[in-house]
Amino acid sequence: MKQKLIFATSNDKKLKEVREIIGDRYEVITFKDIHFEGEIPEPFDTIEENSIYKANFFFEKTQLSCIAEDSGLEVEFLNGRPSAYSARYAGEERNDIKNYEKVLAELGDTHHRNARFVSIITFKDAHFQEVFEGYMNGNISYTPRGSNGFGYDPIFIPEGFDKTNAELSPEEKNAISHRRKALDKLTRYFTSRFKE
Ligand code: IMP
Repeated sequence: MKQKLIFATSNDKKLKEVREIIGDRYEVITFKDIHFEGEIPEPFDTIEENSIYKANFFFEKTQLSCIAEDSGLEVEFLNGRPSAYSARYAGEERNDIKNYEKVLAELGDTHHRNARFVSIITFKDAHFQEVFEGYMNGNISYTPRGSNGFGYDPIFIPEGFDKTNAELSPEEKNAISHRRKALDKLTRYFTSRFKE
């Protein structure tokens, strides 16, 4: 029987990607499957602290191996904002368009537009806590373009491309994304543990 692994997320796109990568070894379930009601807590100012906190929160509740992913956009001209506040940058309603419009308004017409996406995945079980990071570097466009993806994808042009993430196919984005890179590290970690 496959070992159960709780993935602390309410984001179905993230869940699908994680199941594709580690689903053959773990039965990846979410807090919905364990009938957890309520908000997933994100009490800290940094992506890493929130990721670690979420994994521990669900491990304490379930005693099952857990992974949590926290991610966000860091814009250099904005001193790294919105970072841990990416999902609710323009307010608690978590509106993607309002969020990226706010970033575009704050940047104005500056040429200083470099930014990166960050994904931090924490694995937690009875014995170990491991943290894996992934980054995608790029620039913020002057106007939103494209309709694929989610969040800030319409305004993020990855390094080496002239399209925004939202103009790339899901396969193109997933091959280079911050989340992909963190998941690859998690996969390598699982592979090395299975060899023991
Ligand atoms: P959370 O990790 O689910 O809290 O999401 C963080 C927020 O960062 C999302 O709501 C998006 O606004 C943004 N974000 C994280 N990853 C991506 C991405 O791959 N594309 C676009 N926006 C992203």
